[in-house]
Amino acid sequence: MRNKIGLNIHSGRINGDLELLKRDVRAIAVAGFDVAEIPVHGVDAVVNGDLRKGRAKQVKTILDGFDLEYTVHAPDRLNLRDFQYPDVQRKVFAASIQFTAAIGAKTLVYHQGKLKSNDSDVTQEEAREIEIDELGDLSKLAKREGVTICVENIHSSITHLIKLLESVGEESVKMCYDFAHSYINSKKVGYDFLRSIQAAKPYIRHAHVNDNFGKGKPESAPPYIEAMPMGIGDLHLPIGWGNIPYEDVFRIMAGYDGIYILELQERFFENGYSMLEEALQDLRNMLERVEAEKGESTDQANV
Ligand SMILES: [Zn+2]
Repeated sequence: MRNKIGLNIHSGRINGDLELLKRDVRAIAVAGFDVAEIPVHGVDAVVNGDLRKGRAKQVKTILDGFDLEYTVHAPDRLNLRDFQYPDVQRKVFAASIQFTAAIGAKTLVYHQGKLKSNDSDVTQEEAREIEIDELGDLSKLAKREGVTICVENIHSSITHLIKLLESVGEESVKMCYDFAHSYINSKKVGYDFLRSIQAAKPYIRHAHVNDNFGKGKPESAPPYIEAMPMGIGDLHLPIGWGNIPYEDVFRIMAGYDGIYILELQERFFENGYSMLEEALQDLRNMLERVEAEKGESTDQANV
């Protein structure tokens, strides 16, 4: 099975400029990717929780000019456990679902919520229950719009996210497994990284891939330029640059027919995009190597 491979569009790099969106989508298409992941916030599609329908249409017109499939990433600040502006959080979520449908995409990635300690008197347990309830409610809109909300692991363990998704219990709310985030967390919290993928597999509908060295808490990482030589933090490197055991990851993921989105740091867009082609090829080669291995073992089993 040949998985589709995509690349993320960097919200800060395009910063609301649709000409820049076009430039990066073109680079992704030229490099040979199948999919581009579009950030809702990067294209100024939502203002105070309302979808700008005309803007979404403009974005769609640009995207339709390329032979690519699209997925959507919700604003990074979207957080159903943020009780400073809970009403607008819900509205931004709903508008992000509508944006996803408006550009003809089917997958919306949402970072699992995190309670900020000074937000309110809400406890961790209450915040978790509220997020489950909100996701259950938003799942109805997602279903109507033909969108799957894929909740991405950021700070918490995979077990925690699996339990959250089980509690929501809706087909339109599944998981985006980010292997790079999980690898760092597995080192920090001490869980078995590969076993967590096995456990999560039935819930995974989307995946983010990039490399790092499993070192350091993402929030406490020094600026990129300092972190890179030290190999610290969530570096968003091409596969093979860090030490995440991706061949093992892909062996466990055998049978997954979803998309792999390569989420690279924006500096890899430089140098005439040659890095993009190289990063895509390295990932494609690894996936094919693992797939071929599987073929060989079945051949042997048949002998
Ligand atoms: Zn991610």
